[in-house]
Amino acid sequence: MREREQKFYLKCTSCGEEIDTFDKWFQHGQRCPECGDNKADVIYTDKMARIDDLLHDKDPYFSGLWRYFDYLPLNSKENIVSCGEGIVPIDRWRFLEKFAEENHGIKLKVFAHRHDDNFATGTFKDLAGSMIASVLKENGIKTYVTASTGNVGVAYARYLAAADITLYAFIPSNASHAQEAEIGCFGQKVFRVNGDYQAAKEMALEFSRKNNMLLAAGNFDPMRIESKKTMVYEWLRLMLDFPTVYIQALSGGTGPLGIAKACRELESMKLFKKMPRFILTQTDKCSPMADAWAEAKKKGFPKGWEKSYPIYHDPETIIPTLATGYPKTYPSVSKLVLESGGEINDFPEEDTIPITRLVAYESAVRIGPAAAIAVGGFFRSLSDGLLKEGDIVIINVGEGIRRAPGFMAKLIYSTTHVDSIGQCTLMDREKYRKKLWDDILK
Ligand SMILES: [Zn+2]
Repeated sequence: MREREQKFYLKCTSCGEEIDTFDKWFQHGQRCPECGDNKADVIYTDKMARIDDLLHDKDPYFSGLWRYFDYLPLNSKENIVSCGEGIVPIDRWRFLEKFAEENHGIKLKVFAHRHDDNFATGTFKDLAGSMIASVLKENGIKTYVTASTGNVGVAYARYLAAADITLYAFIPSNASHAQEAEIGCFGQKVFRVNGDYQAAKEMALEFSRKNNMLLAAGNFDPMRIESKKTMVYEWLRLMLDFPTVYIQALSGGTGPLGIAKACRELESMKLFKKMPRFILTQTDKCSPMADAWAEAKKKGFPKGWEKSYPIYHDPETIIPTLATGYPKTYPSVSKLVLESGGEINDFPEEDTIPITRLVAYESAVRIGPAAAIAVGGFFRSLSDGLLKEGDIVIINVGEGIRRAPGFMAKLIYSTTHVDSIGQCTLMDREKYRKKLWDDILK
């Protein structure tokens, strides 16, 4: 390989072609100029030599995930667009540890990676928002096009506004008012398409071509993957033990792709024993990957199993951020899950309400519906015997409740209607706690 002075370059994961700059990547429609594949790794030329310093606070402070600037695909610090994203608490959730011990007889440590605490839009997607806004700014791009049902559109709207970049967001006809308002209030342009999410995507593509604008690239986007890998750095920085199990609500799967990238990059440095087992949970209302996985597992993962998956049009989930009915990333994500010794499963969407109530009561954290699917994945994994004595489990709390005001209203539980003070009974908190747990157990 030729000598390089630059900090990073992209490398096609199919043919190995090296792409010097994002500018070149963008000019080729975010595909490899040689073979046309849409998957590329960002390679850092110093081979992670300084990661130890960054993990031990020896460097000047940069906002948010940019404390890892040396291993993020940006050349100049002047182009950073940040709101402190990615540097969030990792809480220990002992109430889940107690449950595992009392009901399943196993001792675990359970942590919550609190991405609901991201300041900009209250979700995990702030990481991608910050990364994309910064890289686009550095490359002189002034417009960006996306189709969105969920959190990612809001994060892009917020961060691109901060970088003075115009976002054109295409939302399906049934997208919520909250969604429309959150994108629109940053002064970004919203088009409500008379059709479903697929129709919105098609129109976004056509619009971007007609106007020669950059279109958001989806789950394999190297910018998104690079932003998600900083989760692993944060585990190394903040936790005493590296997680052995990672649980996340699964839609497109950029999270696990990012974690796997970070683990590969750090492999030779012996900072941890092995990549965690991925337990990825879908809502039962939109579970193409879980269904494909169950089928493959039943057949003993025959040759080419990862290429077979269903496509669900118009999924009926009320959790917009989990509405990926066409799981294009399944061949990559499912192979990672198998390699890690993990599982792809699903969890009943209707049970997100009691779970969210319980978590709010026990931890004072108000998680959003997608995060409740992840916590549901923890309960399901216990029942299915997927967690083992001594596991260090980390649950990705991918969104807080402020993204879902309609969902929050459904959590109301303890209201009693009264006409006189004589009807105002006192509350017994222990009894209430028992009721919340009973709702989970039934
Ligand atoms: Zn290629």
